[in-house]
Amino acid sequence: MKKRPKIYLFDVTNRDGVQTSRLGLAKLQKTMINLYLNEMGVHQSEFGFPATHHETNYLNANLELAKKGVLKPIILSGWVRAITHDVELALKLTSIKHLNLSISTSEQMIRGKFQGRKGPEDIIKVMTAAVRLARKKGIKTVSVNAEDASRSDINYLIRFAAAAKECGAERIRYCDTLGFDDPLTIYERVYQLARAVNMPIELHCHNDLGMVVATSVMGAKAANDAGCDAHINTTVNGMGERAGNADLVSVILALKYSSGLKDKYLLDEKVNLSGAWKIAKYASYAFGVPIPINQPGVGANAFAHESGIHADGALKDRRNYELYDFEELGRGEAETIETGRKITAGEYSGIKGFRNVYEKLEIRFKDDKEATRILELVRYANVHTQKPLTNDELCFIAKYPNIARKIFTMSP
Ligand SMILES: [Zn+2]
Repeated sequence: MKKRPKIYLFDVTNRDGVQTSRLGLAKLQKTMINLYLNEMGVHQSEFGFPATHHETNYLNANLELAKKGVLKPIILSGWVRAITHDVELALKLTSIKHLNLSISTSEQMIRGKFQGRKGPEDIIKVMTAAVRLARKKGIKTVSVNAEDASRSDINYLIRFAAAAKECGAERIRYCDTLGFDDPLTIYERVYQLARAVNMPIELHCHNDLGMVVATSVMGAKAANDAGCDAHINTTVNGMGERAGNADLVSVILALKYSSGLKDKYLLDEKVNLSGAWKIAKYASYAFGVPIPINQPGVGANAFAHESGIHADGALKDRRNYELYDFEELGRGEAETIETGRKITAGEYSGIKGFRNVYEKLEIRFKDDKEATRILELVRYANVHTQKPLTNDELCFIAKYPNIARKIFTMSP
């Protein structure tokens, strides 16, 4: 009997999220996001750009964490253009084993970007050469991104995907790059594509028309209905180019609790929401972007009731006005904020204040030498993040000083 298809989560905060205009993350912050995603049971993290030099140490350091079993079972994969040059460079600079290769497939973009230098058939040629090379060089999973898939001719898209599969690509990424699809169009198109090529489909959707979570889950439903696994691309708090990507927490909530999906589709059993509150708060702090008050699950008002009828109803039985419990998302604990003296750790910290910070975290150092060594790393970390380090960041540095050093090292 054929296995029932599943829906996996594939977060792209560390790729699409950080390439957003005006926003970015320090390499330590990207590392923390990977750790939190792993805790939440996210299947895969597109954790960066292996053909970009300033990412090299961060990427290799995170691959080391994977080797040590710290970033496990999450799969770490990189994004490159679907050209042999990028595949070669990625393999030269990093020890990456999973890649997404990206190239445009719509008439608009082929015409508008390549300006007559490349036609649709050339695109397939360039892409298949890159896939073949990646497979030959030992890349374990190759996924091919059809950029602007939602505006691409469906028959061309099917040919493109079939050619990718033929050369050893495991998956195809259906990119709704401009957020052009609606839930029904993406369902129909992805269903047709999945039926024709019979391979796992990634859904990469954008929010330009305000439908990103709906298009993402309906695309996944289509892939599953056609008998194929689906991998939904998400970002924490929906960060991403322009109006953003599909918010990680909202996507999980939609799959678990909406009337048409709940209990009908198989969400990867590793996924859990217990870290939802933590990752949303952290990403908000790291990006410097507040969580909207009405954000599903993690917004300040997501479980707030005031009007008479609602408050009364929620107090009598929470199910009257809540589809899911705040406890499931890791909410509910009171937060303590130091309102008196507080010592923070930063790039100009000295040893006394620094020891005070770590004592509060109940981390002790072997000797002064070790303390000085960690202090130096904390200073470097702060040079990168430019904001007080969080407790988890401080713990990470103390626990994995050699990895941290690598992450902070950049030589232009
Ligand atoms: Zn995107």
